[in-house]
Amino acid sequence: MSEQNTTQTPELQKHSFQAEVAQLLHLVTHSLYSNPEIFLRELISNASDACDKLRFEGINHPEYYENDPDLHVRIILDKDQKTLTISDNGIGLSQQEAIDNLGTIAKSGTKDFMSKLTGDQKSDAQLIGQFGVGFYSGFIVADKITVESRRAGLDAVEGVRWISGGTGDFEVEQINKVSRGTDIILHLRDDALDYLESYKVKQIVNKYSDHISLPIQIQKEVWQEEEVAEGEEPKGGQYVKTDEWETINSASALWTRNKNEISDEQYIEFYKNLSHDFEPPLAWSHNRVEGNTEYTQLLYIPSKAPHDLFTREAKAGIKLYVKRVFIMDDADNLMPNYLRFVQGVVDSADLPLNVSRELLQESRDVKIIREGNTRRILTLLDGLAKSEDQADQEKFKKFYAEFGSVLKEGLGEDFGNRERILKLLRFATSTHDEVNTSLTDYKARMKEGQKAIYYVTADSLNAAKNSPQLEVFRKKGIEVLLMADRVDEWAMNFVNEFDGTPMQSIAKGAVDLGDLQDAEEKKALEQAAEAFKPVVEKLSDSLKDKTKEVRVTTRLVDSPACLVTSEGELSPQLIRMLKQAGQPVPESKPILEINPEHPLVKKLEASGQFDDLANVIFDQAVIAEGGLPDDPAAYVKRINSLLLK
Ligand code: ADP
Ligand code: MG
Repeated sequence: MSEQNTTQTPELQKHSFQAEVAQLLHLVTHSLYSNPEIFLRELISNASDACDKLRFEGINHPEYYENDPDLHVRIILDKDQKTLTISDNGIGLSQQEAIDNLGTIAKSGTKDFMSKLTGDQKSDAQLIGQFGVGFYSGFIVADKITVESRRAGLDAVEGVRWISGGTGDFEVEQINKVSRGTDIILHLRDDALDYLESYKVKQIVNKYSDHISLPIQIQKEVWQEEEVAEGEEPKGGQYVKTDEWETINSASALWTRNKNEISDEQYIEFYKNLSHDFEPPLAWSHNRVEGNTEYTQLLYIPSKAPHDLFTREAKAGIKLYVKRVFIMDDADNLMPNYLRFVQGVVDSADLPLNVSRELLQESRDVKIIREGNTRRILTLLDGLAKSEDQADQEKFKKFYAEFGSVLKEGLGEDFGNRERILKLLRFATSTHDEVNTSLTDYKARMKEGQKAIYYVTADSLNAAKNSPQLEVFRKKGIEVLLMADRVDEWAMNFVNEFDGTPMQSIAKGAVDLGDLQDAEEKKALEQAAEAFKPVVEKLSDSLKDKTKEVRVTTRLVDSPACLVTSEGELSPQLIRMLKQAGQPVPESKPILEINPEHPLVKKLEASGQFDDLANVIFDQAVIAEGGLPDDPAAYVKRINSLLLK
């Protein structure tokens, strides 16, 4: 089938690469020799993406298949021309797409990589080996790349040829291309001619691309004996190519295969391809779920948090397939937000192929899948946490350090699983520095007569550990959980109890130590409250703009005063956090509790500077919490005046 190129435009257009591309190319060609074979993985992955896109667009445009429905990737080795060609019959590129997509960097992973570059060749070279560098990796082995492509649905004459030597620019011209899809023709460097050996190509495909769901094919070769004259010994022979194509990968989507046929290496390699992560995942869960809603899930927990985990740009990590047809990346309805770090694939048997994001939001099947995914991940984590195996425990630790604070968001988001999430949480405590005490551990260590799980939140672990509210608990040897994640304050709002035991912030409400406090202590408090009544009244008056109430407390040992919040009100920290985030905050004043045993408090009346001292005590309580006095200059002035006395 050959057509004449009558409308071919003669002129070549020259284009410059985007600056970042030029920089990347320089690196690729100058420093990436440690692991050159990854170029094949990258280019096959692109070919596979292109076929996925055709399948997807083909749902509404069956004509895009152009009567050629069998999608494949072919690798053509030409020893005479010294070229290796990766050819696909996927969606192809229009001229404009070739200019846009092969001249700029769109991929976030690559951008991420670029931002980490130091400019130092040696360390950059190490880095680049760890990231996927996409299309440009072709220049590791080629000194020139020709791309010939035609987009599905366009006329044959609207093909495009893109040529570059991998330096500053590339050329584009219009060509005639009968077959739909893309040929990436690598003109191999002399030191890369190994890649023309089919055994080598097979090896690499097996290693990196076996899970690709398309057939990856090379030309079948047959052994041909050299001809010898009658009666002579055979001299040997060589492999020659035939017209037949041989599929060299398993060509079935990894998740559709049986668990026991998949090796750990294959799971890991699949993950790396999926996530563009260069580190192996911590753990994974692969299941076929049957019932009213049928789907397959293959979910991975990464070993490192992505840098954008806490930004709005953070993307969901689940790819959605419907009956093996790729539908979309970042399907955010398939995982709750607090598990957004999970990467993986969901393949549904029930959703319609033309499902849209809007439709996903409403689908009952999607809701069931999301719940199933959530359960799987929580179970997987629980298994790691409970495991007797040292390696699993290490994994859980690693997980918690990376993702623990995201998991906590689930307390406010997923009421149904709150107890399961609580079980997975780990804390530092006033008696155990390491962040490894679970609520179950804490309960097991509770004192005789202790009726609540006590915790304190602060801006840092250190601040939590030294918070004045903790003093009496220290004195009595009662353990208190220390919480310093940004999310803690907010998350704990949703938690009233764990496993039947109330959870009590020691900075909220009055401290009720219940049976932990003996009658004598209670009596002493009552007496002090009585004796300090006039002082408390005067203080309330001095500080009426700043506090809601002043009262005497026994929770303090070394500090003169502390702030507490009424039960059910926002704490000063949470208010600070909300204000920082620019959110409207309801006005609420804290309660000031004073320590009648403290010399500064005892001195108040006789000081002759009651008002100054009162304000200083209040501001210091704010500072002890990690806050700033409302009027720092006034605070300094008061302190100085007191110092000079
Ligand atoms: P990524 O695959 O992450 O998008 P790449 O650098 O690998 O980044 O590829 C850049 C872009 O070039 C792709 O997004 C795609 O638009 C285009 N592209 C590359 N290879 C092909 C191909 N074989 N068929 C169609 N488009 C392709
Ligand atoms: Mg790619």
